[in-house]
Amino acid sequence: MHKLVLKPGREKSLKRRHPWIFSGAVARVEGEPAPGDTVDVRSSSGEFLAAAAWSPESQIRARVWGWGEREIDASFFHERVTHAVQARAALFESGITDAARLVHGESDGLPGIVADRYADTVVLQLLSAGAERWREALADALTRVTGAARVWERSDADVRELEGLAPRAGLLRGAPLAGSLTLHEHGLAFGVEVHTGHKTGFYLDQRDNRMRLRALAKDCDVLDCFSYTGGFALNALAGGARSVTAVESSALALEHARANAGANGLASVDWVEGDVFQTLRRFRDQGRQFDLIVLDPPKLAPTAAHAERAARAYKDINLLGFKLLRPGGVLMTFSCSGGVSPELFQKIVAGAALDAGVNPRIEAWLHAASDHPVALNFPEGEYLKGLVCRVADKC
Ligand code: SAH
Repeated sequence: MHKLVLKPGREKSLKRRHPWIFSGAVARVEGEPAPGDTVDVRSSSGEFLAAAAWSPESQIRARVWGWGEREIDASFFHERVTHAVQARAALFESGITDAARLVHGESDGLPGIVADRYADTVVLQLLSAGAERWREALADALTRVTGAARVWERSDADVRELEGLAPRAGLLRGAPLAGSLTLHEHGLAFGVEVHTGHKTGFYLDQRDNRMRLRALAKDCDVLDCFSYTGGFALNALAGGARSVTAVESSALALEHARANAGANGLASVDWVEGDVFQTLRRFRDQGRQFDLIVLDPPKLAPTAAHAERAARAYKDINLLGFKLLRPGGVLMTFSCSGGVSPELFQKIVAGAALDAGVNPRIEAWLHAASDHPVALNFPEGEYLKGLVCRVADKC
């Protein structure tokens, strides 16, 4: 067995069961592990700490599979996938949705591995050398455990570059997809493009938050910013909104959004193709006002190093959002940037409110849905945070 030996004192985070080993903690590697091979992680005194996947190209030099001396083989992945899928069984049985995240990386004990189910299709995303090494075992396990008609790979996320991995996509198991795929969430149907859509096709993490918006939308003029295929916009209509305006820069996403509205018999959205930063300014100059505004921008700060520039962008849209709200209105504002902590996000939104001259209250903190759990020992898993801010009156 290959061995990864840590520098003295660097076993502390592993003992707290944090699953990443950074390059700076590594004293030496014994043997010649290939990328993705399993290494025994040992303290400087030789104590066994974990079995981990070797990622020579990444600053995260190894990711932990397990804390015991159990062999890492196909049956290990079958077990882990079974646990992860079972944890979502109640969600599927509830009838709320036929699409959910089945495997959420580190938080499901499967670092670098994401699997999302959309009706009869599982989409697998492999993001680390270790994940890549076990592609076939994972595809087999997902097929057997879920009984899905196919497993489609979408390993084309940018983060693979950090691991020295080329993008890769295609059918792994089962029958090719004939025609388009539709998911059903809280009674609404959404088309999903698993081949070309964002992430693995849909923003599953916002499921509960879209429902929360629906509950707030009655008789409101709603503005959905960064609308993608209309997730929040259609929920606003389902909740009885008076009007819905949705802004999105991708013409293709808007095409799907229109199709989704039509498929649900909801046609009355004002779809605006454009940049949110500019469109909000235009609406401000036109004196437009809304009762409920959603800001769900893409990841503006992938890591803490981007946080400062991202903070300016978050402040900009939140300030404009507050200015466009009627007194008593609600801003539902999100950040999915791992590099922006909840504390920092609250500070940015508070600064935006101050500059906008409003005095909002936080009615709720929002997070990713429960099929995107956060392992207690892995705070990095907490990437999506949101605030529901009600503007009481002008201050
Ligand atoms: N709320 C959506 C997900 C939003 S993802 C849902 O629930 O499904 C972020 C979206 O913002 C993407 O669709 C992306 O195309 C779009 N986007 C990125 N930058 C933008 C900009 N400057 N202006 C408008 N849309 C933008």
